[in-house]
Amino acid sequence: MNKKVRVRYAPSPTGFLHIGGARSALFNYLYAKKFNGDFVFRIEDTDIERNIEGAEYSQLHDLIWLGIIPDESIENPNPKYKYYRQMEKLDIYKKYAYELVEKGYAYECFCSEEDLEKSRIEQEERGITSFKYDRRCLNLSEEEKEALRKKGIKPSIRLRVPDDKKIVFNDLVRGEVSFNSNDFGDFVILKSNGIPTYNFAVVIDDHIMDITHVLRGEEHLSNTPKQLFIYDYFGWEAPQFGHMTIIINENGKKLSKRDNNIVQFVSQYRKMGFLPQAILNFLLLLGWTPEDNKEIFTLSEMCSCFDPSRLSKSPSMFDNKKLYWMNSHYIKTLDNEKYFEFILPFIKENKNLANKTEDELKNISLVFKNEILYGEQINSFIDEVFNKAKLNDDQKAFVNSELSQRVLTFIEEKIKSTNDLKFDKDSFKAWINDVILNTQAKGKNLYMPIRLSLTGCEHGIEMYNIFNLLGKDEVLKRIREELQ
Ligand code: GLU
Repeated sequence: MNKKVRVRYAPSPTGFLHIGGARSALFNYLYAKKFNGDFVFRIEDTDIERNIEGAEYSQLHDLIWLGIIPDESIENPNPKYKYYRQMEKLDIYKKYAYELVEKGYAYECFCSEEDLEKSRIEQEERGITSFKYDRRCLNLSEEEKEALRKKGIKPSIRLRVPDDKKIVFNDLVRGEVSFNSNDFGDFVILKSNGIPTYNFAVVIDDHIMDITHVLRGEEHLSNTPKQLFIYDYFGWEAPQFGHMTIIINENGKKLSKRDNNIVQFVSQYRKMGFLPQAILNFLLLLGWTPEDNKEIFTLSEMCSCFDPSRLSKSPSMFDNKKLYWMNSHYIKTLDNEKYFEFILPFIKENKNLANKTEDELKNISLVFKNEILYGEQINSFIDEVFNKAKLNDDQKAFVNSELSQRVLTFIEEKIKSTNDLKFDKDSFKAWINDVILNTQAKGKNLYMPIRLSLTGCEHGIEMYNIFNLLGKDEVLKRIREELQ
């Protein structure tokens, strides 16, 4: 095939950009870039009742934020293709639907919802579980149709699915897939209100937009034969399809939008302080395996390494820990200027840092560069240090022990008697050695009384950083609180 590769991401604006949608978009984008093709963003908005405000914007701009920049979209349409929303081209779908009617591949259906429901119940009573339209409108005469029209009944249009036909296609992910046409009933392609159904509109769109490859979720696999019937009737070349496997959670269950353990929308990650490159990198490995065990990929590396034959054939597990790890990795690799740009918006509102200068804020935020998994988390670390927690009885008893008191007393004296006591990592290590030598306290007996008296917590950021953040006076004050 010498045609220019053109792929698309075609969300319905019924929700914000979901992690699964972002994965489809990424793989389509990589496919396009690998083969010097175009990545098209268009909207499937025919489910008018379910469309929600802001979804179209989020779908496009969250993608752009991730770095997946469409070559064509609702905001930068190619004049050659003009329409990037389905509701803008209803007359086009109508024209094509009636072309099929004229050729005898589709027909008008006047059945009402009630008629269909009755027929469904009848079929169920006969033990047929998956309903198939009984074709009662297939052979209506012109007079019969005219009479129904006169009654004010508007027809829908159904595709006449071929009988006994084996449909085989070569799926980019699964290899050869086959279906039998007898498993499909004649389905509606244009509703009586003039709005096309998904399976029809998507074929017309893909055809008129010269789409060559379609990578989409596994849930669309059984739609593909329906779409292939339509390509066949028009005599059009179908794109090459690939169906990506489902995403599962840690319990092996298909990821559902109600799964509260996993944050699912890109805008939520953005708000929490995830970096776009971390999300992209994570999504890449959620359905694709590199040849070696390489884990970290820049977007341009992804584009050059991407090999569609390595798309996973088994379900991909959403490993939350890995996503957080990846984000912390990318945070650590930011240079300091970029890091400040990223992190300062998160700490601007922190009440514990009111009155701090920009430079002080920068210094404070640097303390956490290697500690945080995501941007917003910096505030809980900061709050933990600045708002000392109340000790429980066991912790109090521990701090009151003779050894703990010896440690705290020594530190108090050390700070008071040394003019220029430094709290950077190396100086801290040196003078804490002094504490060990003088008090004989080690390990938990050494660190726990200090931690507890400073923050009230048993764990937390590296100790020298607590000293740095609180400063000498506050450290002394907090230690004194625990001295008897
Ligand atoms: N709007 C469909 C979806 O979001 C697109 C399906 C397709 O790619 O054909 O699932």
